[in-house]
Amino acid sequence: MTTTRFAPSPTGFIHVGNLRTALFNYLIARKSGGTFILRIDDTDPERSKEHYVDAIKEDLEWLGLTWDRVERQSQRLDRYHDAADKLRGIGRFYEAFETPTELDLKRKKLLNMGRPPVYDRAALALSEAEKDKLRAERGNGVWRFKLDQQRIEWADGILGDISIDAASVSDPVLIRGDGQVLYTLASVVDDTEMGVTHVVRGSDHVTNTATQIQIIEALGGTAPAFAHHSLLTGPQGEGLSKRLGTLSLRDLRERGIEPEALLSLMARLGSSQPVELRLTLDEIAEGFDLSQFGSAPTKFDENDLLPLTARKLHGLPLAAVAEDIAALGVPADKAELFWSVTRENIVTRHDLKDWWQLFSEGREPLVAEEDREFVAQAMALLPEGPFDRDTWGQWTTAVKEATGRKGKGLFMPLRKALTGQERGPEMADVMPLLQKVPARALAG
Ligand code: GLU
Repeated sequence: MTTTRFAPSPTGFIHVGNLRTALFNYLIARKSGGTFILRIDDTDPERSKEHYVDAIKEDLEWLGLTWDRVERQSQRLDRYHDAADKLRGIGRFYEAFETPTELDLKRKKLLNMGRPPVYDRAALALSEAEKDKLRAERGNGVWRFKLDQQRIEWADGILGDISIDAASVSDPVLIRGDGQVLYTLASVVDDTEMGVTHVVRGSDHVTNTATQIQIIEALGGTAPAFAHHSLLTGPQGEGLSKRLGTLSLRDLRERGIEPEALLSLMARLGSSQPVELRLTLDEIAEGFDLSQFGSAPTKFDENDLLPLTARKLHGLPLAAVAEDIAALGVPADKAELFWSVTRENIVTRHDLKDWWQLFSEGREPLVAEEDREFVAQAMALLPEGPFDRDTWGQWTTAVKEATGRKGKGLFMPLRKALTGQERGPEMADVMPLLQKVPARALAG
């Protein structure tokens, strides 16, 4: 039975990078009828905030990424301490007292000698008396896991065969001096006890994975299958970390990005399969194939979400947007026409507002100098409202007869005068929606 998890730390809003992780894990579980766990990694009481937990759930719900259950690390601290005791019992856990400054110095020395900055395990040589003394002077030490200095290997679901020399990695700190359990320990205890079978996460976790495999095995568990997806970059390959704040899911939602657009892009971006709009998660799951993803950094351009959003909207029936349209103040008997006129001319739902404003208030007329005379004549011929679908044809025929203009020279200046735009929906459809025509004032 496949079990996956998405394990955000509630220290901020989730962004497109997190979404990739969430979605891949969700799809793997769904595809095989397995379980998808939402695990809140909240062992850091200072940085974890309840409103971020709520926000994460809200964002996932918006996307339809439903979880089978929620787990919270803050409620499982006993389990982590039990695991820590077990590691102590088998001699794989040791207390170390170096200050951050001392560690930094050690690191710099090693780097200067051209060696990897790996913790030298000096604490392993401390006698009980020395530890007591240090504890009295400096408070409790940190607890490090003693790595077995062998190669750690696994077949990564995306990166292929990975082999990491444990001797090139520092013994990881799993419990801080103040007693706070760190993610590395909490995560392996959870993954083991919750029967997680597949872990997909960002490639920034590759070294973590190596150490976690050893910790899991030391605790008598079996490592899950791991896969590490590449990290997202901006369109030019630039790092996204600084910009991720503006690429939060709520930000994109506020900008009018449709969930299906985001899901469709994220399920394919960085894979050899083309990006195609899919309207349900079932369809997305069906076409999802982790082995099609590459290890190279994945370029993400938020603008790619716009055509997908537009395509989704174009296909919607009135019922799906009726609420948005009513909220703008469009009269019920005009809603159908309004939607049929605007649906192909919007990119996001927000654009509906501009269209309704154009129809209800009218726009500043756009009149070229050489058309002034012509527009004045035409406006004098414009019938009183309300207009209907025949108004445009009848009016332009009358204008043509009066002025002798035809074709583009006839229609374009009229469109620009009435809508303030050079392009837009069919004018025959626009006329019945127009509530005000500021260009009327130009009548000669
Ligand atoms: N809380 C960790 C993170 O957000 C989870 C990583 C993992 O999937 O194990 O980076």
